[in-house]
Amino acid sequence: MNQISKIAAAVNWHFWPRCNYGCKFCFATFEDIPLKDRLPKEDALKLPKMLAEVGAEKITFVGGEPTLCPYLGDLLIEAKKAELTTCIVSNGTGLTSGFFDKYSEFIDWVGLSIDASNDDLHYMMGRGLYKDLNKGHSDHLKDSIETWELCKRYGIRMKLNTVVCKTNLDDDMTELVSKLRPERWKIFQVLPVKGQNDSEIEELMIDSAEFNKWVERHRSIANTGMSFIVESNELMRGSYAMIDALGRFYTNVDGGHKYSPSIFEKGVLYAWEKNIFLEEKFVNRGGIYDWSKKLPILVI
Ligand code: SF4
Repeated sequence: MNQISKIAAAVNWHFWPRCNYGCKFCFATFEDIPLKDRLPKEDALKLPKMLAEVGAEKITFVGGEPTLCPYLGDLLIEAKKAELTTCIVSNGTGLTSGFFDKYSEFIDWVGLSIDASNDDLHYMMGRGLYKDLNKGHSDHLKDSIETWELCKRYGIRMKLNTVVCKTNLDDDMTELVSKLRPERWKIFQVLPVKGQNDSEIEELMIDSAEFNKWVERHRSIANTGMSFIVESNELMRGSYAMIDALGRFYTNVDGGHKYSPSIFEKGVLYAWEKNIFLEEKFVNRGGIYDWSKKLPILVI
């Protein structure tokens, strides 16, 4: 039997499993992990190098909300020491000029999540700070546009993530996205994940025909030079290499999260062997691309 010698080239590390937003469809609530369960900081700092040693080339820091972690900057530095391409997927709330002044040189990509062309829809989706949602509104789009411009001023490559569900099904984001001009626009069909979003997902679900209709409404944007990446439920299952806050690989291939042992128990490759990752799907959804080149810094 062939011994596995490397893991996926791109790994999403959901290292901070709590969030300050209330998105109803959230695929990564980690309600199945006790609130305080996460790696001690000293172990977390070792993880990027451990992944790089067995073939990882890119690490994406994901949550919950990564910027809530007080040592995200230290993790970015460790990832760069290990020569990994770095990405942060964020709701934007902690991406401030103060943060970038300290850490932008360690950040290659930021993925911001914007789901709609207006904040009324974001409010209905729960895409906003809890404190704003409780007052009956969301400022997510307004704030995200400012954050987007800030990221670009620091020379960071930008991708946009959008979840399509029942609430934003009739929306048209063409004009907004034409102005933002991300390098990559990832469009996700809202995904039911057992144990993560069971309570709210039913009323948000859409079928393939509805999803495709939304996609076709925005297809013209693919001609403007950005990568237009469409991820159906089928394509999303099993095609991501993911690690949780306890250092366990996990898969969503069967509809819920299934966790491997921690990489700190018997090593990264042992944990990887216990995980299910469908590499062909990963490639088919555009998971491999030229991610390493950093754009020149325009303004500081
Ligand atoms: S911002 Fe992201 S992690 Fe937070 S609730 Fe929304 S989808 Fe989930």
